[in-house]
Amino acid sequence: MPFNEKLIKNNYPLKDLTTFHIGGPADFFFEAETAQDIVDAVNYAKTANLPYFVIGGGSNLVISDKGIAGLVIQNSIKNIKQIDFDNQTITLSTGHMLSELVNTAEKEGFTGAEPFAGIPGSLGGAICGNAGAYGKSISDILLEAEILLSDGVVKTVNKDFFDFSYRTSILKRESHIVLSATFALKQGNPEAIAQEIAQIKATRKTKHPGKEIGCAGSFFKNLPPKPGESRRRAAGEILEKIGAKKISFGGACVYENHANFIINKGNAKASDVRSLAKILIDKVKELYGVELEEEVRYVGRWD
Ligand SMILES: Cc1cc2nc3c(=O)[nH]c(=O)nc-3n(C[C@H](O)[C@H](O)[C@H](O)COP(=O)(O)OP(=O)(O)OC[C@H]3O[C@@H](n4cnc5c(N)ncnc54)[C@H](O)[C@@H]3O)c2cc1C
Repeated sequence: MPFNEKLIKNNYPLKDLTTFHIGGPADFFFEAETAQDIVDAVNYAKTANLPYFVIGGGSNLVISDKGIAGLVIQNSIKNIKQIDFDNQTITLSTGHMLSELVNTAEKEGFTGAEPFAGIPGSLGGAICGNAGAYGKSISDILLEAEILLSDGVVKTVNKDFFDFSYRTSILKRESHIVLSATFALKQGNPEAIAQEIAQIKATRKTKHPGKEIGCAGSFFKNLPPKPGESRRRAAGEILEKIGAKKISFGGACVYENHANFIINKGNAKASDVRSLAKILIDKVKELYGVELEEEVRYVGRWD
C-alpha cells in the first residue's frame, strides 16, 4: 500500500509514549507498523525537509517541554519473529520489546538473553544504547541486523557496524534506523534459564520503581574503572555519598531506593529533570572531581 500522508498527525503529545511521562508534542508524528512504513516516513521527512527521530519504548528519553521539531516516527514494527533451531538464533522486528526476546529465548530453551530480563523498551532502543545489565550488553548477543541507513539504503549489517561500547553505538551519532535484528544464543537448560530470569526480575523489583512512577532507569552512566581495576564504578554509589536522595528540583527528585534514578513526582517538567541532573553533576564534580555523563538522552528543543 502506498504511504498515506493522512496518517501523519500534527502537534502530537509524546509524554505518555515515554516512561518518564514528561515532554511536549512532536510537530509531526507517525506510527510505523512495517519496515516499509519506516522507509516511506523517512522519505517523506526528507522530501518535506523535516528532521526525523525514531522512538521505541521511550524508556531512555527526556523529551523537552517544548517538544520535538520535525517528524517523530514511533517504531511499532512487530511483524518478524523467526526462530532458527539449527543455528540457535532468534530474529525479531525491532518494534518488539526486549522482553519478547527474553521470553522467546526462555520458551525455546535458549540461553544468553537472561541478563536482559526486566529491562523495558524496544529492541531498537536496546541496540541504540547497547542496553545491558549483570555484566552483559546487547552487543554480546547481537549477530546482525537489517538497517535503514541515513542515505536511504536498506541493508544487512553485522554487529561491527554498530561500533558498540558501554551504553552507546553509532546509532546515537547517525540517524540510521534498525528494522530487525538477529540474536545468537545457545541451547541451555530450560529450568536454569527460567530460574535466572525469575531471580533477576525479583531483584529488579526491589531496586527499581514500579511502572506507575515516571523515570527512565539509571540516569547517569556508571563511571570508568579506577586505574588497575576492571569494573566500572556505580554512579549510584557516588550519588549516594553526596546525599542525592535528599535533593530535588520542582517536580523531579531522586528515588529513595536508588540514587541513580531521577523520578517524576507526578508533575515534573523536563526542565526540572535537567536542572536536577545539573545539580547532581556539579555536586559530584565539586566533591569527587569526576564528571557524570547522562545515560538518558535529551531530545527536542532545549534553547
Ligand atoms: C525502570 C527502568 C529500568 C531500566 N533498566 C535498564 C537496564 O538495566 N539497563 C539498560 O541498559 N537500560 C535500562 N533502562 C533504560 C531503557 O530501558 C533502555 O535504554 C532501553 O533499551 C531503551 O529502549 P527504548 O525502546 O525505550 O528506547 P527509546 O527511549 O525509545 O529511545 C532511545 C534511543 O534509541 C533510539 N532508537 C529507538 N529505536 C530505534 C531503532 N529502531 N533504530 C535506531 N535507533 C532507535 C532512539 O532514537 C533514541 O535515541 C531502564 C529504564 C527503566 C524505565
